[in-house]
Amino acid sequence: MEIIQNVIHYFLHFVFPLGIAFIFFRKRWKQAYLILLLTMLIDADHLLAIPFYHPCRCSIGFHPLHSYIAIIIYALLLLFPKFRVVSVGLLMHMVTDYIDCILLLIPVCGIKFREEALKDVMQLSKKVTKPTHSTCTTSKQISTKYMSF
Ligand SMILES: [Zn+2]
Repeated sequence: MEIIQNVIHYFLHFVFPLGIAFIFFRKRWKQAYLILLLTMLIDADHLLAIPFYHPCRCSIGFHPLHSYIAIIIYALLLLFPKFRVVSVGLLMHMVTDYIDCILLLIPVCGIKFREEALKDVMQLSKKVTKPTHSTCTTSKQISTKYMSF
């Protein structure tokens, strides 16, 4: 499952944009492909989260640049020809992340992964600010907890 998931992930991130650039923006496909790849930079918003990586967290609806409001704005950018490539790239990024959530998080972390993950994140951030316990829950412990079904 993990291998298939990785293949789909990297295919959507690197190969699929190449196809989009070539089919829809043929005249300037190299530039379009570069812009499509650059839209991955919105993952920088993960750095705002504590911990910045959580194995059972779905980016969509969690990180600011992956929020539903942000997605609406990305879709509206389609209306402006100048921003169309950027818009397509950002929307494709959202779809890729969403497919990741469905393919990886639900089977591995369970359907309630989101609430569970959020609870753990809340606990972890409390522990970061107020270290009351000698043993601190690390992301690794969380990941083994979820990965072991
Ligand atoms: Zn993302």
